[in-house]
Amino acid sequence: MRTIVTGGAGFIGSHLVDHLLRAGDEVVVLDDMSTGSPRNLLDSLVDPRLSIVHGSVLDRELLLDTVRGADRVFHLAAAVGVKLIVDHPLASLRVNIHGTENVLDACSASGASLLLVSTSEIYGKNTSDRLHENSDRVLGSPLRSRWTYAAAKGIDEAFAHAYWSEHGLDVTIVRPFNTVGPRQTGRYGMVVPNLVGQALRGEPLTVYGDGEQTRCFSYVGDVVPAMVRLLEEPSATGQAFNLGGAEEVSINALARRVIQVTGSSSDVVHVDYADAYAAGFEDMRRRVPDYGKAAALVGFDPATHLDEIIRRVAEHLGGPSDVRAATGQRATAGRH
Ligand code: UDP
Repeated sequence: MRTIVTGGAGFIGSHLVDHLLRAGDEVVVLDDMSTGSPRNLLDSLVDPRLSIVHGSVLDRELLLDTVRGADRVFHLAAAVGVKLIVDHPLASLRVNIHGTENVLDACSASGASLLLVSTSEIYGKNTSDRLHENSDRVLGSPLRSRWTYAAAKGIDEAFAHAYWSEHGLDVTIVRPFNTVGPRQTGRYGMVVPNLVGQALRGEPLTVYGDGEQTRCFSYVGDVVPAMVRLLEEPSATGQAFNLGGAEEVSINALARRVIQVTGSSSDVVHVDYADAYAAGFEDMRRRVPDYGKAAALVGFDPATHLDEIIRRVAEHLGGPSDVRAATGQRATAGRH
């Protein structure tokens, strides 16, 4: 199996690459290293079945060349992270819309099957009890840069669906909900690596807004195998699937759990959204997935408990030895 992973040097992408190599695939990573890093692939770099193409999904010719002869493509290359999107809306729109269109074209030309990695962000401010794949999207103004990511990914999904219905492209869409784990960086705003890093350094944990907004964090090691099984499942084609965590937790509660699990003496501080992001920033108050469709079709099971996720992120970030003692883990950073 010759498999292309766009964004394969990123957080989720690199875990996917490790998984595919273990399964025996020949893997080509296409990554512009803007937010990804070859460091994420350290475990796999020695594998002769892995090759890395340094380039962007915006480069049509390169993409056509890379995808030619491939059996399947996992498309994860994107501008991600709320902070990055708020700070650089143009770049994120270009990569997330034109880049994905290029990937769809290349797969259509080569006959490769495609897994398009979308996002739970597309549901926007819908606070339903459980967001089903057919739930309505409740988005703020497109003039507010936070919503440009959801807007772009929504267009990507519509494009993918049209390629499926008009060109017969074998494409499946997944919508991850706050996937977390080792190698995720806090640099672009993601809350778990941010808070765990702060706890390990003994700094105050920055909780934005009143901290009562909730999320359901899912472990990358649970999400990645489900992505592969969904692409391999013929009846999944043309459809979208939620992949999210089982436990709804407020950010205040998350901060308390991070302090407890890492044994940190840090405090929690609340920071206004306007100071954390930009004036007029709108957050999602609540985001809870219904992942029953992926569970029923491919046995998706977000089994890894939040405390265990925090422990693994702390271990990866290489906390001081007393923190590692508190988390009961060995001092081996980044090997998950
Ligand atoms: N958040 C926070 N402190 C941080 C980073 C994020 O309180 O240092 C909040 C953020 O405002 C949001 C939640 O944590 O309410 C999840 O943020 P993240 O960017 O990880 O994911 P998303 O907003 O896309 O769900």
